[in-house]
Amino acid sequence: MRYAEMGYHLEIDLATGNVEKVETDPKLTELYLGGLGTSVKQHWDRVPPEVKPFDDENILIFSTGLFNGTPAFSANRTVVSFISPQSELLAYPMMGGFWSAELKHAGYDKIIFSNKSPDWVYLWVKDDKVEIRDARHLKGKGALEVQDLIRDELNEPNAQVAAIGLAGENRCFTASIEQGRSSASRLGGGAIMGDKKIKAVAVRGTRDVHLADGARFFELMQEVKEYIKFRNANPIPDVMTILSGIGSPQEMVHTDEKWHTESFSWGNARNRRKGFWTEDIEKSWKSTQLSAIKRLISCYNCPQSCGALIDVENLPRYMMKCFSKLTYSMAAYVDNLAFGFKIVQRAQEYGVDGFSTPQILAFAVELKENGILTDKDFEGCPPDEDKEGRFFWLLDRLAHREGIGDILADGTYWAAKRIGNGAEEYAHNNIKKHEQLPIKLSMLDPLYYLMYATNEKISITQIEGNWPQAPFPKREQRERFVKDWPQLPDEKFKQYFIDWELRGDNSIPHFPTPPMCSEIVDWMEMLHNIDDALGLCAGMASFCLKPPYHINNYHKLISAATGMDIDRDELKRKVNRSRNLHRALNNRRGMSRKDEKPPKDHWRHRFPELEEELLTTYYTYKGWNYDGIPTRERLHELDLDYVADDLEQRGILKDGQGQKDHQEHQG
Ligand code: SF4
Repeated sequence: MRYAEMGYHLEIDLATGNVEKVETDPKLTELYLGGLGTSVKQHWDRVPPEVKPFDDENILIFSTGLFNGTPAFSANRTVVSFISPQSELLAYPMMGGFWSAELKHAGYDKIIFSNKSPDWVYLWVKDDKVEIRDARHLKGKGALEVQDLIRDELNEPNAQVAAIGLAGENRCFTASIEQGRSSASRLGGGAIMGDKKIKAVAVRGTRDVHLADGARFFELMQEVKEYIKFRNANPIPDVMTILSGIGSPQEMVHTDEKWHTESFSWGNARNRRKGFWTEDIEKSWKSTQLSAIKRLISCYNCPQSCGALIDVENLPRYMMKCFSKLTYSMAAYVDNLAFGFKIVQRAQEYGVDGFSTPQILAFAVELKENGILTDKDFEGCPPDEDKEGRFFWLLDRLAHREGIGDILADGTYWAAKRIGNGAEEYAHNNIKKHEQLPIKLSMLDPLYYLMYATNEKISITQIEGNWPQAPFPKREQRERFVKDWPQLPDEKFKQYFIDWELRGDNSIPHFPTPPMCSEIVDWMEMLHNIDDALGLCAGMASFCLKPPYHINNYHKLISAATGMDIDRDELKRKVNRSRNLHRALNNRRGMSRKDEKPPKDHWRHRFPELEEELLTTYYTYKGWNYDGIPTRERLHELDLDYVADDLEQRGILKDGQGQKDHQEHQG
């Protein structure tokens, strides 16, 4: 009997139509956990580094995590992984909602798609019945609309459907995969689905998921439940309201957007809009938001209700969560929030990422204003004064890949290269080759510098963590905060936090010091990785301050669920193994130190020497060489000798490169 996992993958060969139910090796779960961890292993084994995003060999994996389908609160993430057309590295956006639990109940841990279908299809999985069905009649349908059409066609009102819209069909690089109450948005998963001609994946399952020690799991989950109740009733003092609770940022509940609108540079801007949040704006935005929200909604088995059902101007209803409320309005310099709600509805039907897409549209406007794009490129576009109309027009062109939209659909990095004539200067938000960072900040933050630079997620949106984003002004406040902090991996972090000050020697960018930053960042990133292996929502774990799931209870829950009986150190070792394999996979595709640089103007104040020191200190801490490649010693410790052999054969890891390598660079 397999516990927590189902022990089977579905292998779908789209070229031949062959469907196979494949039993998996439990040893792989012991080594890499589930979810993202075992998906990375599939990509390493099956996708050589020469494979390009739109090659047949680029497999597409929809993966559940170990806790999906169990009674664990908020365990509802599906990790979708593929080589990204934007970054050409491994991408793994994830979606919440109900899909992953349904797949688990159908009896599978992952669906792995290989090759391409000759014509449009969708996959229908209901327990043992697996069908590749004709989807030619669904081509051109919206990503939300098509979910209902498929449920009707199957006469399965409870089927969960993940689908693409026109943007995915047209292989737009920011195309998302939409699914009821969530979406896997970043890095172009929708484009890979479109390339393979998969319009949707519908699932329905009725099987049980077994736990190794159900009684113990429930006992532990009772503690989690009590903590959720406690935290909801007792928001964390001394931090902004939005950081004081748990769950994904409660953007649908909060109406005060002074901090978000004035502290970040949105869209493609280099500057913040100081003084934007006037009394009039506050009044109008609050009333628009409250009237647009029909009710708050949650993902599968979660009490937090971070999403909202939106109904504006008789458009079809849709779900909004998080920052898409702001991204379009702010990027378009439109002061009317109703515009944001309207354009997001259209964007979701097209199926595009709500962070990168508004940035591309703002980038196009900037190119036009600076004479790089011309009136001819904008032929048919509403006049410049009609900022809302202009954004709708650009979004339509992008999703249809029409005219200038065909170039913009590749994202700012690739579009700038194609446009030339100085356009590259305006694609100023890119990191790790081509991922677009959506915001800009003032003073370099050493922790976030390291996270942006080195995180596998390669984007800002999910790499916030358990460590507070800023020091508290008074020592008494800091001492109060650390008193109730059972989520910490080590007591010494309490002192780091108490010593962290707003001004003076112990303030950013020089404090926390590079060695402290390395420990804190490694801890926070490890938590994200564990969530992604378990299928847990980061909003209840790695993303927020003082969450219910953390490094001191994960291992107990995993042991009760799977029967593996692991302690905290063993859990860390498993996660380190999968993270190093993940890193090596990207190294094998060409990623190294040269790519680990946040955009030049991401922070206004930069410190080049400190940044180099941060990177070198962190690499050393992680057991990576000067170029950011895991050393043979490190790989050996993690039972990854086969990875070291591969990197050496390819000349990526030179014999003997290790700590000596750092010393040579230091002089
Ligand atoms: S915390 Fe919010 S985003 Fe996360 S699972 Fe719950 S409702 Fe969904």
